[in-house]
Amino acid sequence: MHALMARLFPICRSITGNGVRETLAVLREYLPALQVHEVPSGTPALDWTVPAEWNIRDAWVKNAAGERVIDFQQHNLHVLQYSTPVHGWFSRRELDEHLFSLPEQPDLIPYRTSYYQASWGFCLRHHQREQLREEHYEVCIDSTLDASGSLTYGELVLPGASEEEVLLSCHCCHPSLANDNLSGLAVAVFLAQALARQPRRYTYRFVFGPGTIGSLVWLSRHRETVGRIRHGLVLTLLGGPGGFTYKQSRRATADIDRTVALVLRDFGAEYEVRPWLPYGYDERQYCSPGFNLPVGCLSRTPFGEFAEYHTSADNLSFVRPEQVAESLRLTEAVCEALERNHTYRNLSPYGEPQLGRRGLYKGVGGGQEGADWQMVLLWLLSLSDGSKSLLDVAEQANLPLALLHRAASALEGAGLLQPL
Ligand code: ZN
Repeated sequence: MHALMARLFPICRSITGNGVRETLAVLREYLPALQVHEVPSGTPALDWTVPAEWNIRDAWVKNAAGERVIDFQQHNLHVLQYSTPVHGWFSRRELDEHLFSLPEQPDLIPYRTSYYQASWGFCLRHHQREQLREEHYEVCIDSTLDASGSLTYGELVLPGASEEEVLLSCHCCHPSLANDNLSGLAVAVFLAQALARQPRRYTYRFVFGPGTIGSLVWLSRHRETVGRIRHGLVLTLLGGPGGFTYKQSRRATADIDRTVALVLRDFGAEYEVRPWLPYGYDERQYCSPGFNLPVGCLSRTPFGEFAEYHTSADNLSFVRPEQVAESLRLTEAVCEALERNHTYRNLSPYGEPQLGRRGLYKGVGGGQEGADWQMVLLWLLSLSDGSKSLLDVAEQANLPLALLHRAASALEGAGLLQPL
């Protein structure tokens, strides 16, 4: 995953343009079934419109001696995203209105965008800005905004036994930022590879699109079929340090909300579950009241709560291989819990069935999780009246899901439980 992030890091992505195409082409090497869609600029998408396609070749600010004092070739973050083309001489004061820096973090380049308001600008280290003392500077942004261009997004469908879907979505519009959101792309790609190798109850749909406008476009094109989505996650910020954060869907008590909370409870890493908030990533669109999809957001430390966020310090050394690996394991555990969340019926519900006669009375290897195997069997038999899922049992009996999965298999094998 880290190697994939390292390969994608230098690409100048935005919400449209060749950077997204190049990124999806790399993802396609890992996921050959990935479909790439082009949606023309000007296409309506719910209350929005697909913007003109933006591409950039070069950008710089030169001093009187002709030296590049700000140089896009040195870092993609040096240009305000969606900057309109410009070329000319500007006074120091005029230029200053187009500069963005962080006085509190003078060594970092900030990430700034102006997608929906025509503007141009440069982002730079505050130290660098303080050294701009000449009267006039030559400015060039060699960019294009093409009204006959398009927006690009990728979609991968892994069909399952059922048409019911699990949606996994991540944004792919940030240039040269690693945790936000190359880590989400890397985890999603490797999760898709793992799911592709195994039998699936659910159909899994992965969407790789630009933030906000990408999910709006996707929703506008799938209005008739979004009802198939039973569970969903936005994957983002999964490579940095810090514990996990799960932000609940707008529904708050959807199966995905309960499943992620239980998996995190059993997972062994630090975590926090937070309530719905109408700000954040693409869950804002998926959970808008008209759709109200059961889609939560899984991250590590949330946006805006770590110093490297949206700066040049969100780089390849900030995202550690062991951290993305742990995030991948967590997403795999969530999918496994969704796959195995059946509702069972006790086939011997009149009095307790005699477990000893069926070879179930002694431990079958459950003890190491700290829960008593016998109690797990009794809880499952007691609650499996055909109305409670394993999720319900795990919550009510406060038992690990993995242990319940094993116990359900054992009881099913003994002819005592039947999945509905
Ligand atoms: Zn971001």
